[in-house]
Amino acid sequence: MFEWLDSELLIDQLIELLLVYDVKGHILYANKTASEKLEYARGELEECNIKEVFRQEFSDIKGTDFFDTGRLESGKELSIYRKNKSCFPTKISVYPAETEGTYLLLAEDISVPRELNAQLHSAKEEEKENIKRQNEFTANVTHELRTPVNGIRGHVMSMMEKIQDEELKKTLDIILYCCNNMSEIINNILDFSKMEAGKFTIEEKEFDFYKMMDRVIATHSNEINKKGLRLKVDVNDRIPGMLIGDELRLVQILNNLLSNAVKFTMVGYISIFADVTMHVNDEVELFFIVKDTGIGISAQEQDKLFQSFSQVDASITRRFGGTGLGLAVTKQLVELMHGNIFVESEKGKGSSFSFSIKLKTGQEDTEDKRSEVFAAWSEYTDTEDADATEDFLQFGEEANCRELKKRMDKLVLSIELGAWDKAEILASTIKALVVQGDGDIKKQVLRMEMAIRKSNYDKSMEMYQNVREMLSEQMAF
Ligand code: ADP
Repeated sequence: MFEWLDSELLIDQLIELLLVYDVKGHILYANKTASEKLEYARGELEECNIKEVFRQEFSDIKGTDFFDTGRLESGKELSIYRKNKSCFPTKISVYPAETEGTYLLLAEDISVPRELNAQLHSAKEEEKENIKRQNEFTANVTHELRTPVNGIRGHVMSMMEKIQDEELKKTLDIILYCCNNMSEIINNILDFSKMEAGKFTIEEKEFDFYKMMDRVIATHSNEINKKGLRLKVDVNDRIPGMLIGDELRLVQILNNLLSNAVKFTMVGYISIFADVTMHVNDEVELFFIVKDTGIGISAQEQDKLFQSFSQVDASITRRFGGTGLGLAVTKQLVELMHGNIFVESEKGKGSSFSFSIKLKTGQEDTEDKRSEVFAAWSEYTDTEDADATEDFLQFGEEANCRELKKRMDKLVLSIELGAWDKAEILASTIKALVVQGDGDIKKQVLRMEMAIRKSNYDKSMEMYQNVREMLSEQMAF
């Protein structure tokens, strides 16, 4: 930009804040140290006036145009202001720059002794370098891990096609499930380290919004059905059919939120809502809500939710698994798509995750699949069930007892029919339902689940009777 600033790299290494301004005080250039110490994004200071940065020195000047260059003199000790209006003391040196009518100002932070300042600066640079190296290492390792996991998955899938033995099929199913889990964890770590290393990019490609939503819904509806939950879909058909953006990453955001919703909900429903909140020229802002009637998250826990490796409760990790990276990655993806993510939740009642993203509109599709997709979703739209919307089921409450009874009956039926996989899911749902209850019931349900896993009818039935008796003492069965 300025010829005399022949090496921007060198200037960025300066421990002093460097600002170049004109006769009206407009900042024309700020080095990296200035942006970092004053907590502005790079390039943002160039939209400010130097009067804002040394606001105390110019506090008596009200007009916007008037600027007295003489007030900034070499040797003066002035408070310099950060973007958040906090300040620290500096000693300034001012020189006329080569371009006429411009000045170069160096501000030395004198809040800490000079030597310490230099040490701090180099320690920070070193730390940044280390983090970058670590992230690159993690990105490389996780990338390498993907290949063997995909190899195992591929082989297991082809074995599953050939094998008839039910027992063996069940084992392969578990291996496949583990592979999928491992892939998800690896992908999350890979994405996260790429984001931290600043190497993550968002694609801009045309995609069919309704087809994408249909695939997302299909991915989760099976598991939702298996758990005996209800699914509600409310997608506004004002959303344009063809959009331009990163389809895969949008799917990843929705999948993360939906799989959490399914994972942490034992009774009630999961709902997906999508609408357009802005449409200007070829830009649209979409708004999504993923809501559940699950275990909920307390107010303090919500603060930590979007931080990396944060799971709100260690016992939850043991019970449900996971790395605590999903939401951290989700938040960064949403922000890369120029949006925001919010959570509203109440412990024991349910959670609602909402987010916005900005996309571009594509060419109108002649073969619009909207009506087909809406017809397929009609089974998920609210009808007379709407009254149950806010009906959150709690342990010990009458509605919950009814639900539990229904499930216990379904469990017996599944065992009698030999549908062991269904019985296993039902048993874990019951375990989650009674999880707040007394320890003995939990133990009994766990034993029942183990008996079911071993496909042991007699043991399962015996345990079932025990659980039922214990529950009937506690609840009005
Ligand atoms: P993980 O990949 O381990 O699930 P996430 O970042 O997706 O990690 O979630 C972090 C934690 O936030 C979860 O372990 C859980 O404690 C909590 N959480 C996320 N979504 C929900 C939800 N819908 N209901 C209840 N708790 C949730």
